[in-house]
Amino acid sequence: MGLYGEYIMKLDEWFEKNRYKCQSFSNIKRLVRLKKEKGLTISLCIPTLNEEKTLGKVLDTVKPLMDKHHLLDEIIVIDGNSTDSTKDIAEMRGAKFFRDSEILRRYGSVGGKGDALWKALYVSQGDIIIFLDADIKNIHPRFVYGLIGPLLTQNNINFTKAFYRRPIKVGEKIVPLGGGRVTELLIRPLFNMYFPELSAFIQPLSGEYAGRREVLEKLSFFTGYGIETSLLIDISKKYGLETMAQVDLKKRVHRNQDIASLSNMSFGILQVFTKRANTMGKLIQVKDIRRSYNTIERYRNDHNKIDYKMKPKLIREKQRPPIITINEYRKKFNKESDPSWEKYTLQKIVYTDLDGTMIDHHTYSYIDSLDAINLLKKKKIPIIICTSKTRAEIEKYRISLNIRDPFISENGGAIFIPKNYFKFEYSFDKETSKYKIIEFGTSVETLRKILDTIKQQGYRITTFEDMSETQLAKDAGLKKEEAQAAKLREYDEAFKIRNKKDTEKITQIITDEGYNHTKGGRYAHIMGQNDKGKAVLILTELFRRKYKDLGRETKTIGLGDGQNDIPMLKEVDIPIIVKNTANPELDVDFDVKRTRQNGPKGWSRSVKELI
Ligand SMILES: [Mg+2]
Repeated sequence: MGLYGEYIMKLDEWFEKNRYKCQSFSNIKRLVRLKKEKGLTISLCIPTLNEEKTLGKVLDTVKPLMDKHHLLDEIIVIDGNSTDSTKDIAEMRGAKFFRDSEILRRYGSVGGKGDALWKALYVSQGDIIIFLDADIKNIHPRFVYGLIGPLLTQNNINFTKAFYRRPIKVGEKIVPLGGGRVTELLIRPLFNMYFPELSAFIQPLSGEYAGRREVLEKLSFFTGYGIETSLLIDISKKYGLETMAQVDLKKRVHRNQDIASLSNMSFGILQVFTKRANTMGKLIQVKDIRRSYNTIERYRNDHNKIDYKMKPKLIREKQRPPIITINEYRKKFNKESDPSWEKYTLQKIVYTDLDGTMIDHHTYSYIDSLDAINLLKKKKIPIIICTSKTRAEIEKYRISLNIRDPFISENGGAIFIPKNYFKFEYSFDKETSKYKIIEFGTSVETLRKILDTIKQQGYRITTFEDMSETQLAKDAGLKKEEAQAAKLREYDEAFKIRNKKDTEKITQIITDEGYNHTKGGRYAHIMGQNDKGKAVLILTELFRRKYKDLGRETKTIGLGDGQNDIPMLKEVDIPIIVKNTANPELDVDFDVKRTRQNGPKGWSRSVKELI
C-alpha cells in the first residue's frame, strides 16, 4: 500500500469504512462551521469544452453554496477553447472564467482535461479543491457537499471520489450500471490484475472528486483522460489508500459518449496505466508507449459498397510535473521557504568518493559513517560509490554494506548498473551476468604502454602492476586480499612518482600523449578521457528519467576530498568537500560546502544534515 502509509488497512475494511453517503453531509451549516474552525477555503473548479447546454444549470445550482451559504469561496471555469457560448454563460453567472491556454503560458498548452485541472491548481486559491464535470444533467448541491464532507469531517482524508448510479439505455430498457463502460471493460480488469488495492473504487473514472491542495500540488498530472487513473495510483502510493474515500452521490445523468470516443479515451488511459505499471515494475516494459491508435472505419467505396479502412489517430497523454515544482506556483502560494514538499517531489541521490570521505584515509574503516549510510538506505536514497578504486574493491564494500545501487569505478572509467535496476531501456557498452556497463575509459593495457615510455625516458615511477600484492598491501596499508582487488584494474593505472620534482614533467608527457592524469589521496593516476564528472552526468540522466516517471525531481549530492573528485563535485547540485588533514586543502573555483570534521565523521554529519 502507500509508501508513506502508517498502517496497512485491509481492502474490505477500507471499502466499508471509507465509503460515505452524500446525505450524511447535507447539513451545510455544520460543514461551514467546520470549515471556519479549521481556517480552510474551498474552490470549485469546472473544466469545460463546449458545455453551453448544461453549464448554466450547473452554475445556477452550485452558486448559492458560495453566495448564500459561504461553503465555497470561489467557482472557477477552466475552458479548453470552447467555440460555443460557454464563456458568456460562465461570466454571466459570476464564475471566474479562464482559458487553459492562457494560464502558465510558458509551459505551453496541451489541451485535455488533465491539463485544465493542472492549471486550475494555479489559478484557484482554495485549500480544498473540488472538480466537477460540466455535463451533469441532474446537478444537485449534493455533488459539492458530498465530496467536501469527508475532507471537512475527517482530518486523515486527503481525497474523495464520487460514485453513483449511471443509468444508460440498452435497447428500450434503462439499466443502472456500476461503473461506466470503460471502467468495467478496461480499468477494473487492469486494476484487479496490477493494482488490486484500487479495485475497491466503485467508479475509478468518475470526473467528480475533491482533494487537499497540499496533496494535489505534489502529484503529476497527465493531460488527457488518463488523469483519473494516475491520480488514484499516485495518491494511494504516496499517501496510502487509507487517506482516500469514496462518496455515494446517488445518481448521475449525462450524455453518453459513443463507443468510438470511449475507445479513444481507453487508449489514453492505457498509456497512463502502462507508464505507471512500467515504472513500478509491474508490467514487462513496453519499449515505446504507442501514441498512434488504429481505429477501423466503415465506409461506402466508389462502387457504393460497404468497405472498411484503418484510420490511425494520434492520442497523446503528456505528463505534467507536480505543480509545486513550478517556480511561479511556489512564489504565488508562498511555498519557497517550506521544505516539506521536497519529501514528495524531490529524490536525492548521493555520489561519494571512498578514501578519506566515506571511509577513513588510514584505516579504510567505515565505522564513523555507518549511521548516515543506514539512514540513506532507510530513506531509499541511492548511494553511488564513485571512486578511483576498481570494480573488485568496490564490490567488497557494496556487499558488506548491502548497497545495491550502481557504482562508478576507476575515476569514471565505467558505470556498473545492476541488471533490472532501471526498468526502462538505455544504451550500454557491455553486459555481464550481474551488470550493464557503460564505459568511458581507455583499457588499462593501453595506459600501461604510456607509463612504460615514461620509464624509458628515465623517470622513476612504480605502478600497481609493478608491485606484488604483498608490496602494495604494505605500501597502501591494505590487507593482502584487498591489494589483490586493487590490482584488478580495468580503466586506470595507479602509480607512485619516486621523485616529487618529476611530477610536472611526467604529467606533461601524459597530457601530450592525449591522456589524462589525476591525483587521488595516495597515488597518481593515468586514464583516458574519462573523469568522475562525465560518468556522474550520464548516470544522473538515467536517475532523472526513472524519478520523472514517478513525478519527482532529482537532486544530487556529491562528497569528495581529492583533486580527482572535482569533476564530480562540478556536476552535482550540492557539492561537499570533506576535510582530509592528510592532504592539502582542496581549492576550487565554484561554491562548495566544506565539512568541519575530518573524513567519515565530517561525511556522516553533512549527509545527515542534508537529508
Ligand atoms: Mg579520496
